[in-house]
Amino acid sequence: MGGHLLVVGMARSGVAAARLALRKGFRVVCTDRRPDAPRVDGCTHAYGEHRAEDFVNAAQIVVSPGVPARMPLLQQAIAAGVPAVGELGFAASYLDCPILAVSGTNGKSTTTHLLGQLMNQGGVRTFTGGNIGLPLSEAVDGGFECAAVEVSSYQMELPGSFRPRAAAILNLTPDHLERHGTMDNYGAHKCRMFARMGPDDAAIVPAGDPRLRRLADAEPGRRLLLGSSPGVRVQGDELQLSGVHDPGPVAIGGFGLPGAHNRDNLAAAVLLAVCGGLWRRDIDVSTLRGLPHRVELVGERDGVRFVDDSKATNVESALAAYLGWTGPFVALLGGQGKAGANYDALVEPLRRARAVICLGAEGPAIHAALRRGEVEAVLVPGMAAAVAEARRLAHPGDAVILSPACASFDEFTDFEHRGRVFRQLALDY
Ligand code: ADP
Repeated sequence: MGGHLLVVGMARSGVAAARLALRKGFRVVCTDRRPDAPRVDGCTHAYGEHRAEDFVNAAQIVVSPGVPARMPLLQQAIAAGVPAVGELGFAASYLDCPILAVSGTNGKSTTTHLLGQLMNQGGVRTFTGGNIGLPLSEAVDGGFECAAVEVSSYQMELPGSFRPRAAAILNLTPDHLERHGTMDNYGAHKCRMFARMGPDDAAIVPAGDPRLRRLADAEPGRRLLLGSSPGVRVQGDELQLSGVHDPGPVAIGGFGLPGAHNRDNLAAAVLLAVCGGLWRRDIDVSTLRGLPHRVELVGERDGVRFVDDSKATNVESALAAYLGWTGPFVALLGGQGKAGANYDALVEPLRRARAVICLGAEGPAIHAALRRGEVEAVLVPGMAAAVAEARRLAHPGDAVILSPACASFDEFTDFEHRGRVFRQLALDY
């Protein structure tokens, strides 16, 4: 069978890519190891086992982000000269509007969401998606003037001709090392966003991250910095933009999302928006909203506020939440641990906590790290016991913050499920 387009991995991105490929006139074969993976009308389905002939005889292969590029059948096809691209790169090749891209270990979804809102408010009809929400394939032929795209390192394993007008890497801390191996490799994947840039495209990295600056310096694009100049700096209630078409201050006093990390996310979103053509006068940060499960105030009971930060699945994101919280709090941490996690950094911010509750599979490891740092903590098996204990220990005026520093899969299907259960346990009478 020759000349078909093969889609590998049929979760949301794969389904969207298959639909797009059909619309573009390809004969499409879909493959997935799961016999019950979603099917797409008009495609041929090879489910249950991958067949070698579907790979080597393909005219093109489109790979979902959930499928590692090192998969042997895929590598064999690439070695035999079959072009292979990730879903994001495939979609981008059909998109005729500029792309503004956001990557990094933490803050991607929030920043992409802020960026999409800024662009739409400024009158530019903008698609928001990628690794968050809708796959980029769904933006194609949608009449958009811009795409605000969250990019994960997985999506950059096979970037194709992905070329954003501006792209920012927010930060880089240990995560996903089971797939990427080393920090340099992880960072290098993110920097592939810059690989096809021209001299006017903006490659944005944190001023304070020497590894990212070094990796990005090896790529083309115009370098802009988060936290310095040229680029964007947060100065009190203002952002200072430089090196862009409309340099100067942007007032951010009315911005409603909590924590210094969200100001950093806003700074990156504003810089990207201006790189995308927006003018400072079009920017009003007071109406911008956050996303659920990211330091989200979900309710109050008996004078205690409950904050769902279930999306904080690694140490740095949990640190951002606890460091950014100014009032008294009870902390809930634990879940499924990640390779290479080191909980020692949590000791200092958690000294301020009224109480710390460690739960789930990683609870004992976090408990032990806090103990070494002489921070008392309570160890409980799971979420139900953790919330009951938190309600017992919290005083009126406190916040109970679930910012777990761990993945959720020991007890839940995903971080959203964990957040919903936390909210229910906290607020249901
Ligand atoms: P991502 O999409 O990269 O996982 P999110 O915007 O969903 O990022 O935020 C995930 C968690 O990371 C949030 O719950 C918050 O605690 C933390 N966080 C958000 N922005 C930052 C940042 N800039 N630096 C560090 N931690 C952050």
